Amino acid sequence: MVIPARGDLQPSIYGFKLGRFEITTILDSKIVREGLSPSHGGPTMAQEVQALARANRIDPFRYEHPFIPILVHTGTQLVLFDTGNGALQREREPLRGRLPDGRLVERMGQLGYRPEDVDIVVITHGHPDHIGGLMEAGAPVFPKARYVFGAAEFDFWLRGEVREARQFNRELFMQLAAPLADRATFVKPGDEIVSGIRAVDAAGHSPGMMAYLIESEGRRLLNWADTCGHYVVSLQRPDIHLDVDDDKEKAAATRQRMLDMAVAEELFVTGYHMPFPGIGFVERTQGGYRWVPLSYQLSL
Ligand SMILES: [Zn+2]
Repeated sequence: MVIPARGDLQPSIYGFKLGRFEITTILDSKIVREGLSPSHGGPTMAQEVQALARANRIDPFRYEHPFIPILVHTGTQLVLFDTGNGALQREREPLRGRLPDGRLVERMGQLGYRPEDVDIVVITHGHPDHIGGLMEAGAPVFPKARYVFGAAEFDFWLRGEVREARQFNRELFMQLAAPLADRATFVKPGDEIVSGIRAVDAAGHSPGMMAYLIESEGRRLLNWADTCGHYVVSLQRPDIHLDVDDDKEKAAATRQRMLDMAVAEELFVTGYHMPFPGIGFVERTQGGYRWVPLSYQLSL
């Protein structure tokens, strides 16, 4: 008998307790992209980015880009941070074949969570891979949820003064997120969305991006959303611009501030595009930082 090849097998759900909270990171999907450089640093930084990749034993050209929404069960409420790619690839002609199908809802189902169990959906910022799972076939995917948006982020997309490359993104926002305004709360940095979850200014990657500090019984986790786009380049060289950062100078300054905060306050961090399960901590190195993946620290 010939045993059939199994193919890759990788974890897609990771859960742990943070004080009283139960946290689950879920791999909605992932994609392999070409061009670690010039996506990071543009053509002028190509040599440096490739050298950085080689030194860290990753491919200097292709890179894996995961999408990792986070569920927080507070004991009384189920809070979801970002919604993955959803049906974007199937429902939007310009994205056909260019994004993976979102599997967030399917994987939540493996945990016994139904879409109607989600009480609050928090959108860190309005990019397609974060709002893509809000609606499917024109209807909200999480039918009983209320929504939380950063006030500045929501206003930015509504105003519509976006650069050419974000025009389609703006259309998506108006179709998927804007209709939820009457069920939404709009927050500023420092606001608490539920007891123990507080908004932190992370503007730059998107003009009103928000990070969230999640805290229970003295244990703390920073969800920095897209502050760092790549676990090697963005940490070891936070000054390197990402082509997807809307305000490149501000994004780099925010990256620096968040990385400093993560080090100074010894925070565990979760990031939407960090390698799954997307959790680690930040170590300061000579001239930069390093992503240290979680081992068992949060399981003890
Ligand atoms: Zn993203």
